[in-house]
Amino acid sequence: MAEQDAAVRVGNFQEVPFGYNAEQAMAEASRCLQCKTPTCMDGCPVEVDIRSFLLAVEAGNFADAIGIIKATNGLPAVCGRVCPQETQCEEQCLLGKKKRPVAIGNLERFLADWEREQKGTNGSAKPVAVARNGHRVAIVGSGPAGLTCAADLARMGYDVTIFEAFHKAGGVLIYGIPEFRLPKSIVQAEVDYVASLGVEFRYNHVIGKLDTVDELLEQGFSAVFVGTGAGLPYFMGLPGENAIGIYSANEYLTRSNLMRAYDFPNADTPVLRGDRVAVIGGGNVAMDAARTALRLGSREVSLVYRRSREEMPARNEEIHHAEQEGVRFEYLCAPTRFESDDHGWVRGMTCVRMQLGEPDDSGRRRPVTIEGSEFFLPADVIVVAIGNGPNPLIAQTTADIATTKRGTIRADKFGRTSKKGVYAGGDIVLGAATVILAMGAGKTAARAIDRDLRGIADPVEDEAGATA
Ligand code: FAD
Ligand code: SF4
Repeated sequence: MAEQDAAVRVGNFQEVPFGYNAEQAMAEASRCLQCKTPTCMDGCPVEVDIRSFLLAVEAGNFADAIGIIKATNGLPAVCGRVCPQETQCEEQCLLGKKKRPVAIGNLERFLADWEREQKGTNGSAKPVAVARNGHRVAIVGSGPAGLTCAADLARMGYDVTIFEAFHKAGGVLIYGIPEFRLPKSIVQAEVDYVASLGVEFRYNHVIGKLDTVDELLEQGFSAVFVGTGAGLPYFMGLPGENAIGIYSANEYLTRSNLMRAYDFPNADTPVLRGDRVAVIGGGNVAMDAARTALRLGSREVSLVYRRSREEMPARNEEIHHAEQEGVRFEYLCAPTRFESDDHGWVRGMTCVRMQLGEPDDSGRRRPVTIEGSEFFLPADVIVVAIGNGPNPLIAQTTADIATTKRGTIRADKFGRTSKKGVYAGGDIVLGAATVILAMGAGKTAARAIDRDLRGIADPVEDEAGATA
C-alpha cells in the first residue's frame, strides 16, 4: 500500500498509508485461493466471513463485501487500521505458508473507506426504528467495548446511556492511538453512528465519583456494562522517576491526541517537546509515543527495550514505520535510575546492557543484566511506556464485585460479573489487550444482558469474547 514518504510524514500528523484504489483492492482480493476450509477465519476474533468478502471484492461488488464484514464487525474502518492482522487472520491464511498472505486488513480498511465516501457518512446502515422495550441499560466507558455493547443493545430496543469520564467518546481510539495511525474523524463517525441509534452520551461523568454502579442500578437501570479499560499507567519504580519531564505514555499521548497539544498555543494544553526524547518500552504504545515525539519536533528519539527486536510486542508494521522515521532503537537495554539537574528537570537516565537468558513465564527469554555495562543516555523528555493496568475506582466503589489479583474485574465468558445485573468486558477484564477483543466482549455482553432481561437461557455453544 502506498504511503507518505518517511521524511515528509515526520513533519505532519496525517495518516501514513494512502489506502488501496479499487483496482488494487480487486487485484489483491483475487490472490485469495477461496479455500474449502478457510483457515483465515480461525484467526478472526469476531468471525468475519473473510473468504466471502474477498470473493465479493474480487468481483468489484464492494457493497456486498462491506455488508458481509459488518454482519459481525461494527468498526471495520478502525479494525482495518489497528488490528494486529499479522498474528490473527493473515497469520492463518493458507497462502502465507508459501507466499505473502492476502492483505485482509488493508482490504477491510479499503471497504470501510469506500462505503464512507459513497454515503458521505460513516457508512453504517441507516438506523432502523426499533420498538423500545422499556429497559434502560447503563454503559460505563465509551471505548470499543462500551460502544459495541451500546450499539447492539440499542438495536435490540434498549434505552442506552453511556457514561464517559472524558469530554469525548472513543476511549483509547480517541485519546491513545495517534491521528497518523487512526484519524479521529473516523472514530467520531463511528461515535455519531452509535448516537444516531438513540444512545445517549453523558460526558465528564466519572462513575465511582459522580454516581456509583450501585447508584445506577438504584436509579432504575436494569443492567450496567463496565467497559472502563486499562488506563492506569505502570511506572518503573526507579530512583528519580518523579523528575520534571518524565511522562507516562498515557499522559503524553492524551495531551497530544485528545487535548491537541501538537497545536499549542491554538489548543490550550501544552506538552514538553524535548530535543532528545527517550521512550521506555516495546509495545504499540511505545511506538506511538516515539513517533509522536518525532512529529512534535524532537531532534533525537531513542526507544529503550530490554529484550531484542524479535521479542518486541508491537505490531511489525509499527516497528517498521518507526525505523523508517528515524527512531533509534536501543535493544537489550534497561534504565536503572533517572538523573535530573538542580532544578528537578530530567537530564537523562543511567542504563545497563542486557543479554537474553532462559525463557520466563511469558515464554520469552528473560533479560539478564551484563555486569559493568552501565552507560548514560541523555534525554530532556522521557516517556515510560511499560504497560497499563485497570483503574481500581469501579472495583473500590461497587459492592460485591469480584476482581483478580491484577485488579481486573472477574467476568464469565458471557461478561457476567459476580454482581447481579453488572457485566464487564474489554481491557477491564482482559488487562491491556486489543480493540477487536474489546469489541467482541461488548457484543457478547450485549447478548447476555438481553437474554437475562428476557429470562432466556444461554446457548450451549461458546461465544467469542471475554472469558473468566
Ligand atoms: P478503552 O478503550 O480504554 O476505553 C475505556 C473508556 O472508559 C475510556 O474512554 C475511559 O475514559 C472511560 N472510563 C474509565 N473509567 C471510567 C469511569 N470510572 N467512568 C466513566 N468512564 C470511564 N489495540 C489494537 O488492537 N491495535 C493497536 O494498534 C493498539 N494500539 C494501542 C495504542 C495505545 C497508545 C494504547 C493505549 C492501546 C492500544 N491498543 C491497540 C489497545 C486497545 O486500544 C485497547 O485494548 C482497547 O481500546 C480497549 O478497549 P476498552 O473499550 O476495553 O477500553
Ligand atoms: Fe483466502 Fe487465505 Fe482465507 Fe484461504 S486462508 S480463504 S487464501 S484469505
